[in-house]
Amino acid sequence: MARNSRFTCKLTRDEQGKCDEVARVTVVDSQGERARGCARHAVEALDGLAGGRIDWDDSKGLNEFEVKELQITEDRSQVHQVGDY
Ligand SMILES: [Zn+2]
Repeated sequence: MARNSRFTCKLTRDEQGKCDEVARVTVVDSQGERARGCARHAVEALDGLAGGRIDWDDSKGLNEFEVKELQITEDRSQVHQVGDY
């Protein structure tokens, strides 16, 4: 049975191919564009995204390690934004 693609990770780069993980994290870029993906790819996506952040209200089912890693990456992303100006 095919899984609804709305609920699978959308944060892979093209060269990485498809990710079948359930999307539990919503990443928002500095323009307000939203994309959902698994915790691992959310960290990767956010890492190269100046001014990016996590929509925590829309990100569920994460364990404490995933939350911590996402928070650290989010902080770093916010710092980049300030440094760009
Ligand atoms: Zn993924």
